[in-house]
Amino acid sequence: MLILVINSGSSSLKYQLRELTDDGVDTAEPVVAKGLIERIGQPGSAITDHAQALEHVAAELEDVLDGRSIDAAGHRVVHGGERFSAPALVTPEVIRAIDRLAPLAPLHNPPAAQGLRALSAQWPDLPQVVVFDTSFHQTMPRQAWQYAVPTTWYTDYGIRRYGFHGTSHDLVTGLTAEHLNISREEFRGIILHLGNGASATAIRDGRSVDTSMGYTPLAGLVMGTRSGDLDPSIVAHLCSAHGYTVEEIDRVLNQESGLLGMTGHTDMRQVLEAAESGDREAEAGLQVASYRLAKYIGGYHVAVDGAQAIVFTAGIGENAAPFRARVLDRLGALGVEYSAEANTQRSDAVRTISTPESRIPVVVAPTDEEQAIAAATVELALRR
Ligand code: ADP
Repeated sequence: MLILVINSGSSSLKYQLRELTDDGVDTAEPVVAKGLIERIGQPGSAITDHAQALEHVAAELEDVLDGRSIDAAGHRVVHGGERFSAPALVTPEVIRAIDRLAPLAPLHNPPAAQGLRALSAQWPDLPQVVVFDTSFHQTMPRQAWQYAVPTTWYTDYGIRRYGFHGTSHDLVTGLTAEHLNISREEFRGIILHLGNGASATAIRDGRSVDTSMGYTPLAGLVMGTRSGDLDPSIVAHLCSAHGYTVEEIDRVLNQESGLLGMTGHTDMRQVLEAAESGDREAEAGLQVASYRLAKYIGGYHVAVDGAQAIVFTAGIGENAAPFRARVLDRLGALGVEYSAEANTQRSDAVRTISTPESRIPVVVAPTDEEQAIAAATVELALRR
């Protein structure tokens, strides 16, 4: 069956047309077509909104489909708030709920809702499923999601930790438990999703019990362009002493900080190359990023009462062996030992890179959010 996977960003739309068996398993060549539409709604762009972008997608797919029809669509939606703790079959009420959550993700939820409405208009009989970045983290206990601020900020404004990258953390948890031959319900581990955005999740009994991103994806680890954790007083200080506006600070922390702010490069490959050739800022940036990550791993080892695995995934986690080494070299106190050879070997498979003596296995697992969304879509929309 054919599943259209839609990932609406604030000004972009990525899609994949995937072919699955009736059991929701990938066929041999699962990606039938894919594409990316960028600069939606930006000055000079021919595409004004996500509804129009989806019309383009429908037109682009016409040739590929060649008379076949799409069986269901699965959409990635950034924010499900506390309303969604699992993927959901789309109804008008679900679309309204996604719209109502817009204050939590003002750049992402409105275009997603627009995309859902546009597809319903285009193909009225098409079953649609929404998969949320936040929902996997709804199992976090209050001690992990509550901030130490007045409780009314939570009750009145919804201010709490939500966490993101849930689809990936969920998928990789399952892959790792299977790889280590541990039943998922009993699995305890630390998942490190390291892409342009990066987050760590503490997994207990196969479920999220803590995660490094917070109310927004700005919190936690050092990322390509995002700062991760910092003292919140810095914001007030920059406003009152240096004339910054809140909007400027928000932009700098989200788009000009992290690896970019420290080293001048967002791409991990460039940062590693620069450090290799003796660039001191690049070296310092890598140390800040790997040190911060190692501290999270130590903290989450406590949070899960002893991790059974430390797992690297996403662009950097899967590919940047020198960065993995920098992190793992800091984990001697946890009894982590890895094989330099296994670490540098390239592969698309789930693999262990620690030595048999390591007190905690270290695993590299490939994530595939589109595949997970397609599988969830089949499960909810078609197999009932
Ligand atoms: P996104 O969050 O956009 O999905 P990805 O998961 O694709 O991001 O990760 C992007 C990051 O992965 C970039 O920083 C890129 O430099 C890094 N990356 C990809 N391939 C390699 C590689 N071979 N070595 C080092 N870093 C890599």
